Amino acid sequence: MSENKNILQDSHGRDHAYLRISLIERCNLRCSYCMPEEGIQLSPKSHLMTYEEIYEIAKTFVKHGVTKIRLTGGEPLIRKDIPVILEKLATLPVELSITTNAIIIDQFIDVLKANNVRKINVSLDSLDREKFKHITRRDQFERVYNNIFLLIKEGFHVKVNAVLMKDFNDNEIIDFINFTKDLPISVRFIEFMPFDGNKWDMSKMVSYKEVMNYVNDSFTEDQIERIQDAPNDTSKNYKITGYQGSFAIISSVTNPFCDSCNRLRLTANGQLKNCLFSAMESDLLTTLREGKSIEPIIEKAVKAKFKIRGGMDTLEKLQEPKLHNNNRSMITIGG
Ligand code: SAM
Ligand code: SF4
Repeated sequence: MSENKNILQDSHGRDHAYLRISLIERCNLRCSYCMPEEGIQLSPKSHLMTYEEIYEIAKTFVKHGVTKIRLTGGEPLIRKDIPVILEKLATLPVELSITTNAIIIDQFIDVLKANNVRKINVSLDSLDREKFKHITRRDQFERVYNNIFLLIKEGFHVKVNAVLMKDFNDNEIIDFINFTKDLPISVRFIEFMPFDGNKWDMSKMVSYKEVMNYVNDSFTEDQIERIQDAPNDTSKNYKITGYQGSFAIISSVTNPFCDSCNRLRLTANGQLKNCLFSAMESDLLTTLREGKSIEPIIEKAVKAKFKIRGGMDTLEKLQEPKLHNNNRSMITIGG
């Protein structure tokens, strides 16, 4: 295959420069919106990518234009060989970042710095210890909270991800925004998305519009600044005048950002997913293990990407359980 051929451009003209790699299916939390209560069927260890295979696959994507790699999971930091994975990927010409629940990130400060990981997204859905325990089914609030402060102190660029759920944490939207008053962080409110086993329904979701209603009720028009979104950004960014940090809304459900989507996802068992919402998967790992080129599979998978939300182009389709239940649980995709 020619190196100049743009295998990462889909049939809608979108170039894909951003690869999210899920390193592991397991996690030290059990967030109800991510992991079904009964747990998930884990892939046998031999079906998971080794660090050499992760590197080989990543290298192929970089050769074809990927410039950003984000590591996710499950919880990426509980993978034993995470230091080696970081070291290997840091040799590629990419911006390397990580999404984590931050419970054990204090043990990795030096490794992250040594491998030039500067951008860390931390998931935290509540500023209240009891609520945190309820949603994650684990009593680890203090560790996450303290580690956010540690990361800031150590000079990392921190974004805090909060999935909003009606009558659970929507009453904390303003507390989260006030959390950015003296901290140089971005809090991102994420619309609750449907995945297999997470009991999603539209009525539990807090929409972009509803978040802005809370904001408009608490701050004056002059205080609310719309700030520039980064290219291919999935979030709409805002700031309260005088606050050090900012906040954003990721509205994948009510206001999808598919037009400028530049992301691809690789699951821990080596399947390429061309869209978070799509159940379609392409097996890169088996082909790699057979010693064959994975490029034709990547090209085919990218070309097959739907224009909007894995083919669920209307809210009606998104609400159809048989469409979104074919997709994996989020814990095995990697958000
Ligand atoms: N364990 C890490 C963490 O929690 O940050 C990384 C993996 S987690 C699957 C990645 C992101 O997906 C988290 O920010 C999480 O909040 C988000 N997520 C999981 N399930 C979701 C859902 N149903 N709707 C929206 N976001 C979801
Ligand atoms: Fe684990 Fe992250 Fe899923 Fe929570 S959102 S269960 S921390 S993978």
